[in-house]
Amino acid sequence: MGQILVASRNKKKLAELRRVVEQAGIEGLDVVGLDEVPPFEEAPEIGATFEENALAKARDAYAATGLPCVADDSGLEVDALNGMPGVLSARWSGRHGDDMANTELLLNQLGDVPEERRGGAFVSACALVTADSEVVVRGEWRGRIISEPVGDNGFGYDPVFVPDEESASGRSSAQLSPTEKDALSHRGRALAQLIPALQELAAN
Ligand code: IMP
Repeated sequence: MGQILVASRNKKKLAELRRVVEQAGIEGLDVVGLDEVPPFEEAPEIGATFEENALAKARDAYAATGLPCVADDSGLEVDALNGMPGVLSARWSGRHGDDMANTELLLNQLGDVPEERRGGAFVSACALVTADSEVVVRGEWRGRIISEPVGDNGFGYDPVFVPDEESASGRSSAQLSPTEKDALSHRGRALAQLIPALQELAAN
């Protein structure tokens, strides 16, 4: 069976990426994570765009392992902050991966911003690098930033993001089930565009 390496150290994000690839029902493709391949040096994320970072991660992982590789770079773009935190989402508070501190800082920054200007979008760029091709796709998920965190599912800014599809219910993306989130999310939408390429990979 062919293997596909999903290059993410973020456990919850890795689980989402894995789920979407697995649920696409691609026969003959075994999804492996970074902890299942020999360790290699990972370059810091310095790109100005999600696409650059995703491609760099997938290229590094492919070069180190020789396995076809999918990597995602993602974040939250808030309209009232001119698209920030953007590529800096994971380290917005200054501490990489501190979801609570990042969310608290964002809420404080938006403290006086009225309801109608609290729009934003989660964005995911997913890169697929194989022996003979490189492709990068983008998925977006629009919604608004609420003023108090709610919900325990997901990760990152999920508790303060109410997707447009849930504006009537007011449910945050941290209140969606994993299947509900995958069907709507930026990552689900980006990965859906890679399914034909993954199917081709599995068939060869
Ligand atoms: P990356 O690992 O550099 O791509 O950073 C992604 C960061 O963006 C995460 O640490 C989160 O703060 C945020 N993020 C990306 N996708 C999501 C999501 O699906 N829900 C909530 N936060 C997300």
